Order: sequence, then C-alpha cells, then structure tokens
Amino acid sequence: MSILDLARPELLSLTPYSSARMEAGAAAVMLNANESPWPPPGDDGRALNRYPDPQPQQLIERLAKIYGVSSKQVLVGRGSDEAIDLLVRGFCRSGRDAVAMCPPTFGMYAACAGIQDAQVLSIALTSDFVVDVDAVLNTVTATTKLLFLCSPNNPTGDVLRLADIERLASMLAGRCLVIVDEAYIEFSDVVSASTVLAAYENLGVLRTLSKAWALAGARIGVLLAHPDIVQFLRRIMPPYPLPTPCVVAALAALDDEGQEQMRRRVVITRSERARVSEALSQVTGVRRVLRSQANFLAVQFDDSARVYRQLLVAGMVVRNLSAYPGLDGFLRISIGTPQENSQLLDVLGARAEAT
Ligand code: PMP
Repeated sequence: MSILDLARPELLSLTPYSSARMEAGAAAVMLNANESPWPPPGDDGRALNRYPDPQPQQLIERLAKIYGVSSKQVLVGRGSDEAIDLLVRGFCRSGRDAVAMCPPTFGMYAACAGIQDAQVLSIALTSDFVVDVDAVLNTVTATTKLLFLCSPNNPTGDVLRLADIERLASMLAGRCLVIVDEAYIEFSDVVSASTVLAAYENLGVLRTLSKAWALAGARIGVLLAHPDIVQFLRRIMPPYPLPTPCVVAALAALDDEGQEQMRRRVVITRSERARVSEALSQVTGVRRVLRSQANFLAVQFDDSARVYRQLLVAGMVVRNLSAYPGLDGFLRISIGTPQENSQLLDVLGARAEAT
C-alpha cells in the first residue's frame, strides 16, 4: 500500500507540464526559457528577468531546519491556501470523494471542496469548541480522502492535543489523509504535529509565514508531508509558484535576526492576548471570551452588531463571526500592537491597564 493509492488515479498517470527551469536548472548562458536576457530597470541584482526556481532550495532547506523535518517533506507554495487547494484537487475525485472538517473552522477547506465538487462532511466542535475525536472517527466514510484539523483553530482559538491527532492519524491510516493546519501554532504552547510526521504516512501539516512571521503579503505557505505526497502535488502545481521578491523577503525574515524578532513579537502578542482577554471579560455586554492560543480572540457580545458598528465608527474593523455555526453574537478580534489593543479597549469602555 502506498499513500498515493488515496490520490486521484488519473493524476498519477498524467504527464505533468515540464518547465525549462525544472528540466535544466540554471547555467551560465540561459537560452531555454524565452526570457529576456536583460534585467528590468531597478532589478537590484535579483535577476527578475529569469523565471524563479520552482521550489527554491535555500528556502526549502531553511524551512526544513526550522520545522525539524527533511527537505524532501517540504512543499512551498502561495500561502497555505494553495496547499489546501492542491490537496483537495489531488486527492478528491469530483462528485465522488469527501473532505471532513470540524466547524466552526477556517473557511477555505469547505471553499476548496466546493470548487472541486467534493462533498463536505462536517463534524461540529463540541459546545466547548473542541474536536470530538470519536464523532470524527464515526463519521469518516470510505470515500473521505482528507480530514482537515485546525490547531489552534480559526476562528475559536483552541488547540488539539497531539495524542488526539495521533489517534486520528493511526485510526485513519490507509484510508484518509489527516491534515493539521498550524497557521497559528507559533502563538501557542503546543508542539507541532510535524514532530510525529515520520510515524504516520497519512499525516500532513500546514504552516505559513503569514502570521507570526509577518509575511502575509509575500504569500508563502508550506505543506510538510510524506515525500511521495510532496512529489505528487508538485505534478499538479503551476510551474513557478513563488515570485523571486517573495522568496528574497522570506529568506530575510527567516535568518537568525528574523527568527529572533519573530520570537520577541510572539512574546508581546501572547502577553497582549492575556491582557485584552482579561480586560474584555470585565466589559458590560461581553458574554464570553473564548480561551485562545492564537493571535486573536473570539468574543461573544450581547449585541455584536452594535459593537461591530461602534468599532467601525471609531475606525477599527474586526471580524463578524455570526454566520459561523455555533458562533452567533461572536466577533473575532486580532491582537494588534499594544497601542491598537488599548485603543480597542478604550472604545469598548474597558478599564485597560497601562502598557
Ligand atoms: N489556515 C488558517 C487556519 C488560516 O487562518 C489562514 C489565513 N487566514 C490560512 C490557513 C491561510 O494562510 P496563508 O494562505 O496566508 O498561508
């Protein structure tokens, strides 16, 4: 049994597009890709006249080191959004296969399933907003190819225990890929599921540079998975997903100094999360502030529409969660700078302690 037995069979036999850079890499004289031989104005040594490396080796190796995996287990793309889309397209036969998820959760899993005409199997979080592992195991069908778990979960903020992830991966071995989306894990206390990647062929982990690494504008997302899955998804990925300036920005953010800065900012965000959560829970009209290990808080108000408008009038925008199942009256508030957080608390009439 190979993990690719779960993939769409017609894609396994497809001859993928082979780009000039994939075939030959770089050479002193490059006449194989119909590029301009001259750099554009303002190029600054970046060689933007050349197509980029499809999977830049230096970036892959840096990420592999940071995430503690082998470079063969790393696929980099345009945000983890792209990896979600590739997984659904690569594993789900349109009109036949299903994707399981635990709402309320990140909307892209269902959106990508819808685009691929894959069925969505929803296993609601419990009333405490945690994943019901037994319910998931009882619901997954023979045609369920992917299970998306989000830890910390967007938009509620709680994490899954590694033991639960391992139980799901082992019970679903050979039947379904278990994909753990760890977009916000840097803000949490839990260890990454990538630490047990080698033990489960059907386990994959999504990471992103968009959150703690402050690079949402560069669109760099990562799938950590079995090397066969990485190779397979490369077959259906567009030939040059990563623009050179984005790779340059990512390498700068991931150097020693960048890593140090990321850690310092995570410390600030975590302490601000505690401050804002504590202050909001004292505000009249706040019913509930969910426990969060991410860089946001899901907050239930008596009248969330009024609070939303009140913030908007004050020039602040938050996310209305009322359309999510089980989150009527909730707003999702991202943790900003200490000044921005104090401004938010002021508008909501909280007694903010000086920072
Ligand atoms: N996963 C989760 C849980 C998210 O909240 C987001 C962005 N909001 C993403 C993935 C996508 O991140 P990106 O495409 O920027 O890597």
